[in-house]
Amino acid sequence: MSLKDSLLVLPGVGPKAVEKFQKLDLYTVEDLVVYFPFRYEDFASKSVLDLVDGEKAVVVGTVSTPANVQYYGFKRNRLRFSIKQGEAIIAVSFFNQPYLADKVEVGQEIAIWGKWDKAKASLTGMKIVAQSSEDLHPIYHVAQGISQANLVKLVQAAVDRGYFDLIEENLPAILLEKYRLLPRKQAAFAMHFPRDLEEYKQALRRVKFEELFYFQLNLQVLKVENKAESNGLVIPYQRSLLEEKIASLPFALTEAQQSALDEILCDMSSGGHMNRLLQGDVGAGKTVVAGLAMYAAYTAGMQSAIMVPTEILAEQHFESLCQLFPDLSIALLTGGMKAAPRRAALAAIESGEVDLIVGTHALIQEGVVYHQLGLVVTDEQHRFGVKQRRLLREKGANPDVLMMTATPIPRTLAITAFGEMDVSVINQLPAGRKPIITRWVKHEQLPVVLEWLDKEVAKGAQVYVISPLIEESEALDLKNAVDLKEELVAYFGERASVALLHGRMKNDEKEAIMQEFKAGKTDVLVSTTVIEVGVNVPNATVMIIMDADRFGLSQLHQLRGRVGRGSKQSYAVLVANPKTDSGKDRMKIMTETTDGFVLAEEDLKMRGAGEIFGTRQSGLPEFQVANIVEDYAILEEARRVASQIVSEKDWKEQPEWAILAKHLREKENLD
Ligand code: ADP
Ligand code: MG
Repeated sequence: MSLKDSLLVLPGVGPKAVEKFQKLDLYTVEDLVVYFPFRYEDFASKSVLDLVDGEKAVVVGTVSTPANVQYYGFKRNRLRFSIKQGEAIIAVSFFNQPYLADKVEVGQEIAIWGKWDKAKASLTGMKIVAQSSEDLHPIYHVAQGISQANLVKLVQAAVDRGYFDLIEENLPAILLEKYRLLPRKQAAFAMHFPRDLEEYKQALRRVKFEELFYFQLNLQVLKVENKAESNGLVIPYQRSLLEEKIASLPFALTEAQQSALDEILCDMSSGGHMNRLLQGDVGAGKTVVAGLAMYAAYTAGMQSAIMVPTEILAEQHFESLCQLFPDLSIALLTGGMKAAPRRAALAAIESGEVDLIVGTHALIQEGVVYHQLGLVVTDEQHRFGVKQRRLLREKGANPDVLMMTATPIPRTLAITAFGEMDVSVINQLPAGRKPIITRWVKHEQLPVVLEWLDKEVAKGAQVYVISPLIEESEALDLKNAVDLKEELVAYFGERASVALLHGRMKNDEKEAIMQEFKAGKTDVLVSTTVIEVGVNVPNATVMIIMDADRFGLSQLHQLRGRVGRGSKQSYAVLVANPKTDSGKDRMKIMTETTDGFVLAEEDLKMRGAGEIFGTRQSGLPEFQVANIVEDYAILEEARRVASQIVSEKDWKEQPEWAILAKHLREKENLD
């Protein structure tokens, strides 16, 4: 019996069920044992006097008025009655559950799981629960065909079979004692079956610490190894050629660009592996800096590759690099390429005929053979981590790596989350850029905005209109965008050409639409957020964001960064009638600053990391239970001890740390 046993060993689990559980990445009993609920619902009954507005809780009271069902529209109805809790009279509503009326009897006690509206002294019920149930109910992430109950039962089966007894401690006694952490076995059990909230909190603290500590330990070890590596690549670039290139650019580098470039060149020309994060706000000129680094590699006779998240961006980088470096041979490699051009590109890459390669993930896939790959640049990519490096190493390449990101990461987070990397920041915009003027308007003011837009378009401005975001529904997003486009077509008539771009389009369709917009043939481009990452059309000077309050600050910032990329004055208009204070605050902050770092800090304070890092450009490692913003204090502490331990000489040989050496790299979520 071992924790590595397949889930098949558990009662009631057959091959069919196994397939289902795979959707949740559950293969072994061990996977299940550490598949913790992501939250608990506290079904202990509460006094409404203690509830805050919007809180979900179980409220017990005596039914004081009979149930009454109102129907309003197809299959829609509302069940209403009142309950009395002490002196308080509470109005209860259930939506679309008319059958519950049978359970409501005047004078009887009832327990309702619902959401409290303080101002209205009302409870929107979700379900009627069994009385005196003082349980904590675990909520697991589930998938189709798997219910909460299935998971609870399965975990219970693992307990019954004694699998939890096989859980081994993986933290040294010194740390358990120092931080008063629960032993691993006890914590795992309490995560699934806590006696009370307090025990759950203690278990959670242990599990989070473990996760963040091992993350930091792996990171610190990696950093030490990187530094010590003697087979690192030396790229002997030719300074004079590079300087000539810089002098021939149509602009002078900003000081910030120059110093970032110097840091990069210093890494490249010394041994050891470059592992550097290049941060800079949208439009700060990162691409040029990265381009020059790749040019430097070229002067040393080495290839470079730049990896981007989408085909649109690949095309765009390809074009701008061809413009910047007409003297280089540059190839484009994407997943959507036809067989013949792909074969030709691959052959040219392998023979070394090509100096610079631009592409998507296709770059590190099978079949790509490089000829002296010296430098890999990534743009708004997922973390280019251990795994990707390994893939390249298997191809016989061990290049320096430079990761570009326009996601402004607050410094505090950058040093922890990207702790194994060096960081260069371009914190200065090129001279002559006019700050984007940002206005927040209500929907009622839209006609005024349109009138103004008409004038701007007549003057030759190009406009982005971002359609509202509907949470978790791509289909609705699309519908919104289509409707919006039709409305704008109707409004502008012959005066402007309007096009639509959305995520469901085929790549070549998207490409064609972007090309038309770039060429100035389209005046108004309606788009979903696919436009967000890195798109560069300097003549586009107006960005209109519909229902802007649905977006997080960082996303708004990214979207706004699509304009203001040339010398003309640019504008952003946020159309929103926010209902919440935080929505209003976000709109206000957007009109007050264009500094991405300020916005990121605000975002972090207001909403946590999900807003900043929640999207595909996150680049942050994923944690199962920890959240690097909420658990920042734990993260800092974990980082502190981890680096202390790693800095001890021969720490792996010391008995008190033996347990760490044993479990090191077990879960390397560094890629
Ligand atoms: P980022 O990648 O940081 O978003 P880019 O490198 O794409 O920014 O630069 C944005 C625009 O500014 C490009 O059109 C680029 O040619 C231009 N640019 C870059 N550096 C400078 C500079 N020092 N002076 C003037 N324009 C610049
Ligand atoms: Mg860029």
